Amino acid sequence: MRLNGIHIPHRKGTQYFETQTFPVPERVKISMSQHMGAPCTPLVKKGDTVKVGQKIGESEAFMSCPVHSSVSGEVVDVSDMLLANGKTCKAVEIACDGQQTMSEEIEPPVVTDKQSLVKAVRESGCCGLGGAGFPTHIKLNYDESKVDIDSLVINAAECEPYITSDFREMMENTQDIIEGIKTLCKILEIENVYIGIEDNKPQAIEKLTKQTENEDSIHVVKLKSSYPQGAEKVIAFSTTGRIIKEGNLPSDHGIIVMNVSTVAFINRYIKTGVPLISRRLTIDGDAVNKPCNVKALIGTSVKDLLEFAETDFDKAQKIIAGGPMMGMCLYDADTPLSKTNNAFLAFKEKTYAKKSLLYKGQTNCIRCGRCIGACPLGLMPTELEKAYDRRDKDALNKMKINLCMNCGSCSFVCPARRNLAEKNQLAKGFAFSK
Ligand code: SF4
Ligand code: SF4
Repeated sequence: MRLNGIHIPHRKGTQYFETQTFPVPERVKISMSQHMGAPCTPLVKKGDTVKVGQKIGESEAFMSCPVHSSVSGEVVDVSDMLLANGKTCKAVEIACDGQQTMSEEIEPPVVTDKQSLVKAVRESGCCGLGGAGFPTHIKLNYDESKVDIDSLVINAAECEPYITSDFREMMENTQDIIEGIKTLCKILEIENVYIGIEDNKPQAIEKLTKQTENEDSIHVVKLKSSYPQGAEKVIAFSTTGRIIKEGNLPSDHGIIVMNVSTVAFINRYIKTGVPLISRRLTIDGDAVNKPCNVKALIGTSVKDLLEFAETDFDKAQKIIAGGPMMGMCLYDADTPLSKTNNAFLAFKEKTYAKKSLLYKGQTNCIRCGRCIGACPLGLMPTELEKAYDRRDKDALNKMKINLCMNCGSCSFVCPARRNLAEKNQLAKGFAFSK
């Protein structure tokens, strides 16, 4: 593992913009697949009345967590929807009654031990709010007979350009973060906490350092601003010095890594019992006239959110869910907000940076090796590309295509503007196909 990373423009122009509350929309469309793992099955049908926080999707699969209604109103449709990744899933569309009547199901959970914590976090519908969407209860449900967890790493790096939603969480909800950390440490008997924050967020470092100065076990770690500092394996190493070996989870090395907004949400859920029905996100990009941070209900359409930020739709050529490095382009502005969306960015054509993934004009590889130097995992993107082009599964597997986390660093540094990260995604799928 390398720590040099790459230097990308931060463009965190919204960092000083306090979070605004997005009004209750007329309709929401709530996807049954908002987390990594098995999608949920809808528990409601057309014509049903639902309330805020009511469970409307559930799955018995191990890798899944429930989905709740973010509004009160009437279910007007349960149909298939196309996700940004090309897969389809069921979605529940609700006409909001504007009353926001809370469900009787909502009550603070009783959390006394690890088992009740895991159960509560699962019931909250919580999945990683940093963007990956890994169901949070699974991280907490480790086998104590096999692993000994001694460290909690709070991922507050927020290394992608533009996105400032975690930063706003740190500035606006500091106590939720600290109380959430303390609850997890008490129940899981974790000795050390490392809050990793990039050094381009000095206010957050200062605030959290000050508010944890009497907590001997909580360490605020100032990290170098380099991309992808927030990748799970990278931040685990940057904060604890431990290397997560190939095929291992952080828990195999005594670590739980959790996003900073996720830990704050867990604290709020334990106090109130209100499940994950809304989230904070950044809206930015050069086609957006009023960039902002908003707290919006899950299921709100991207179009409504972009309109709120006065986006120039005539000029917007690309809408990205997430950051410009690892985000996904949306095919449709009617796509609804999901639990994992920490940003929507709208760009005019080729304006982010010519060396970014958005730029398509590529030339021949000049064998400069920059992509190899940039890869945080020490992979050889240029060789992976060649192996994929000749459909050589053995070579792809020997060169560990499975480790690629699609961070985009190789594409970003390539002077020939080759779409290496995109190829690697295709290559990964190919290498594991039969
Ligand atoms: S996208 Fe994959 S190969 Fe490219 S730098 Fe990131 S981890 Fe390495
Ligand atoms: S950075 Fe681009 S040009 Fe340089 S070796 Fe890698 S693929 Fe080739």
